[in-house]
Amino acid sequence: MQKLQLTLAIIKPHAVKNPVAVSYIRNVLKNSFVVVKTKNVTLDKEAAGKFYKEHVGKFFYNRLVTFMTSGSIDLHIIGHANAVELWRRMLGPTSVYKGQFEDPYCLRGIFGISDTRNVAHGSDSYTSAEREIKFFFPDFSFYHWHNSDEVTYRKGPIIFNNHLFQHVRRL
Ligand code: ADP
Ligand code: MG
Repeated sequence: MQKLQLTLAIIKPHAVKNPVAVSYIRNVLKNSFVVVKTKNVTLDKEAAGKFYKEHVGKFFYNRLVTFMTSGSIDLHIIGHANAVELWRRMLGPTSVYKGQFEDPYCLRGIFGISDTRNVAHGSDSYTSAEREIKFFFPDFSFYHWHNSDEVTYRKGPIIFNNHLFQHVRRL
């Protein structure tokens, strides 16, 4: 089996508030990926602004930052041989309306409300994934991941802990 690649999934505030969306998305995550870490946080404007700093100056920047601070978000570090691309494919296009038209079963097509409230985030490259994981999980050790945890998550034995919403090593 190929080595596991990590990416960051963020479930955005409007989806976290929708129990049907959360349960559907969580099923997709736990059935298609290994879920390495999960946590729920509420961002302030400074953190949201910093996370989306590549978009400073764009017409949607203020509304994006306001939206991302409007409720809590779920953060998931997920792994798969092709995690970055697979999760982006499952999300569908940035534009919800495009998704509804071109790929109605993508997550953004199903649960998206507007081009800003587009359900979830996925890192756009492995370099972005590393940067974004460090941003939200400063204690996560990539060294430890590459030298020890990756092989455990790939070869097992692991089980799913529903309470943590994470796969964990079976003792
Ligand atoms: P993606 O999330 O697909 O990587 P971008 O990085 O381009 O997309 O944009 C970041 C986020 O900004 C999007 O997920 C969406 O919430 C918001 N956004 C992007 N483009 C628009 C737009 N044209 N109108 C409103 N919001 C947008
Ligand atoms: Mg992006």
